[in-house]
Amino acid sequence: MTKPALTLYLAAPRGFCAGVDRAIKIVEMAIEKWGAPVYVRHEIVHNKFVVDGLRDKGAVFVEELDECPNDRPVIFSAHGVPKSVPATAKAREMTFVDATCPLVSKVHIEAERHHRNGLQMVMIGHAGHPETLGTMGQLPEGEVILVETVEDVADLAPRDPEKLAFITQTTLSVDDTAEIVSALQTRFPSIVGPHKEDICYATTNRQEAVKAMAPRIEALLVIGAPNSSNSKRLVEVGKAAGCNYAQLVQRAADIDWRALEGITTLGVTAGASAPEVLVNEVIDAFRDRFDATVETVTTAEENVEFKVPRVLREPA
Ligand code: SF4
Repeated sequence: MTKPALTLYLAAPRGFCAGVDRAIKIVEMAIEKWGAPVYVRHEIVHNKFVVDGLRDKGAVFVEELDECPNDRPVIFSAHGVPKSVPATAKAREMTFVDATCPLVSKVHIEAERHHRNGLQMVMIGHAGHPETLGTMGQLPEGEVILVETVEDVADLAPRDPEKLAFITQTTLSVDDTAEIVSALQTRFPSIVGPHKEDICYATTNRQEAVKAMAPRIEALLVIGAPNSSNSKRLVEVGKAAGCNYAQLVQRAADIDWRALEGITTLGVTAGASAPEVLVNEVIDAFRDRFDATVETVTTAEENVEFKVPRVLREPA
């Protein structure tokens, strides 16, 4: 039986960012240096495939520090942690390595600088996301107010409307955030913004690639985890750019083949925590069912790399 023709557009850049790459290396190198088990507070990155792979090598994933023994090393995830977490680890004399992405740490430093200058912070982010909790946890309670939508801006009741700054989660939708920032600036004209965008290069580039693909495709698949913020944003960006069918899948087994019946064009991308092996798995699944031609849509080149902390580069 002849297979139906399909042009599969592959977004570039897609998948792993420098922060995720570094966080995974940190866990692997920690296991190499100190032996198993090495504890990891929270999923190191939001991807089950990655987490399961590290678990097989000797990582133990926990939600809170009190689940870790004092005498084993613990790693903090790429999303960042509230200040109280390393402080507790120090008090317990634990060995710990912070895998917070340097681009998240940049936002933490910014928040502290504004706080020192007497400004109250408005954080644009998603309630309950580990990065939001980590960033808000850099400052004393009440110093950071969370807004999630333009509507939230109208309800803001800051201590002093003249003494405000805003920061954002690194993995938000560039366009939605611009609307919230504009609402903040309209309501609080003297609000101070970041020197350089808080939304990171990887988030921005992956969203741009989806926007560039959107006019050519009937359907979009984003490979990523349901709790991955940047992956969920890619689905929204695809829909906003005119792609009626945009779906998050963890891997090939999640593809709803019935919904894709009759398509001749498809876009594929992957969130910043999804490994390339899962992209290849999805492409292979399409090759099984379609006479697929793969075309890469490149909108940016990435060459960002972050060093792992010194403690892991030194011999044991
Ligand atoms: S998505 Fe951006 S901020 Fe998050 S880990 Fe990757 S590079 Fe860092």
